[in-house]
Amino acid sequence: MGRASRAKKYRAPRGTGTHGRKNWPWFLAIGLIVAVGVGLIVVSKTGSDSAASERPTVDDHFHASINVDICGTDIGPPPEFEQAADNPAIVPGVHSHGDGLIHIHPHSTAETGDNATVGLFFDYGGWTVSEDSLTLWDGSTVSNGDPCEALDGAPGEVRWSLNGEEQSGNVADHVLACGLACGDENDQIVIAFLPEDEELPPPPEPPDPVDLPTEETPGATGVGGVPVPGDVPTGDAPTDTGPAATGPAPESSVPPAS
Ligand SMILES: [Zn+2]
Ligand SMILES: [Zn+2]
Repeated sequence: MGRASRAKKYRAPRGTGTHGRKNWPWFLAIGLIVAVGVGLIVVSKTGSDSAASERPTVDDHFHASINVDICGTDIGPPPEFEQAADNPAIVPGVHSHGDGLIHIHPHSTAETGDNATVGLFFDYGGWTVSEDSLTLWDGSTVSNGDPCEALDGAPGEVRWSLNGEEQSGNVADHVLACGLACGDENDQIVIAFLPEDEELPPPPEPPDPVDLPTEETPGATGVGGVPVPGDVPTGDAPTDTGPAATGPAPESSVPPAS
């Protein structure tokens, strides 16, 4: 009964039968609905992406630790740089003060949100990092399959960990987390060129400057009042140039040699 009336109901519009070409408003309407639907999906997707990743903003200032191990040897912290390696006119807001940290206080939208990646840091420094190879501040260049002489010639490969956990994919694409500024932990990044059966070295032990809060106020900053060596607290681009001046100078405190 209900079936019949339903069938009738459905049939009725068709029965009013227009010729095919008069159906174009329908196709147009459906096409519009689909287009709007797809548009909404795209908008909401990019909207949520950018909402989730809008930090770091130009008002942020936070840190990630970076350690690089080649065949079992830590090559030491990336040297300080305040200019992009390939363009001295660029004063990068994602940079190094030579303290083993990536300092992240973006100066422009080219460095905010999803743009604040490990790859950007390497680009600015004049180095390269990918899933396949590394070109580093100690002058070394390694590619997957190159032998690790220090490890009986076993072939190494580019690997990386985040906060002590090995990750897959290209570390260059990793967006630096806003960490403590967002109530989370700061990124501790270890990049290694090691054979697959070797364990990745752990990130630096706390206490470490990476545990400092992102807001660096003049004078004592962060946990226990430990200043971040060499970082100018204002986060102001052109004035952020005084690492050596404000940093501790252990060498100078050594008594003169007799
Ligand atoms: Zn800093
Ligand atoms: Zn800085």
